[in-house]
Amino acid sequence: ERVADRYLKREVLGEGTYGVVYKAIDTKTGQTVAIKKIRLGKQKEGVNFTALREIKLLKELKDPNIIELTDAFPLKGNLHLVFEFMETDLEAVIRDRNIFLSPADIKSYFQMTLKGLAFCHRKWVLHRDMKPNNLLIGPNGQLKLADFGLARVFGSPDRRFTHQVFARWYRAPELLFGAKQYTSAVDVWAVACVFAELLLRRPFLQGTSDIDQLGKIFAAFGTPTSSQWPDMVYLPEYVEYQFVPAPPLRSLFPMASGDALDLLSKMFTYDPKARISVQQALEHWYFSSAPLPTDPAKLPRPA
Ligand code: ADP
Repeated sequence: ERVADRYLKREVLGEGTYGVVYKAIDTKTGQTVAIKKIRLGKQKEGVNFTALREIKLLKELKDPNIIELTDAFPLKGNLHLVFEFMETDLEAVIRDRNIFLSPADIKSYFQMTLKGLAFCHRKWVLHRDMKPNNLLIGPNGQLKLADFGLARVFGSPDRRFTHQVFARWYRAPELLFGAKQYTSAVDVWAVACVFAELLLRRPFLQGTSDIDQLGKIFAAFGTPTSSQWPDMVYLPEYVEYQFVPAPPLRSLFPMASGDALDLLSKMFTYDPKARISVQQALEHWYFSSAPLPTDPAKLPRPA
């Protein structure tokens, strides 16, 4: 089947937050692409144009660590977004038991993640859905953020689809306390969870409900005190919790270096205003000290 006179449709790759994703060949360039089909069904005509205008802006945003949006067009009530095709994602790397990740490999994957996110934040775009399966990996080992800017255009994924269980594990405490304003700090918390997952080779805080998610966070870092986080008590869903002491971070990450633990603790700061920024994380000595990040082309990937 030919789509928009240009793309040859191949198999479905999966169902995502916003709709079906399928593989296609771009007959103009010969390249393989991924096309995300977004239903615009119930919305009013005007919304489609607004979304399309916003999407056109996303096309202008290019960075080595962001998935490139190469084309966007409406067709039969669906918005089609065309992206460069990526072989695998970070979740597959983390889960693959045949892959050994050295400290230098982890540093490299995490540095690319932060670089992509820093680009988003410099453009005043929040990602809002950072998780390992949104971190795609290309043939030369380059890691690129997917779904960049989509949350702003189509609404935050976790508000649209409550079945999105995985997204919960990456949610910042202020969101779990009902904060209405997203800030770049929520992306920092999420990306800290990805870092932890790279170190542990399993999701770090696997809550089974929003309340349980907070419980998992408190068990790991201790209950937040109002001196640590003064604005906490003003959050809409704040409730007082029974005191839980913080175990040493070292005990949760026995394999991590002191440098890695220091960076981790600065990203997992309760008060979003005190949490370090993505740019500050990139400037942390963890990245400039030995072992230096592995060259992306030499990173281990699933067979
Ligand atoms: P989610 O919303 O759950 O993050 P996505 O909509 O990003 O999922 O993607 C759905 C499926 O399509 C996933 O299996 C993903 O691996 C695949 N996919 C998404 N983008 C690409 C791409 N650029 N290249 C290859 N596969 C992709």
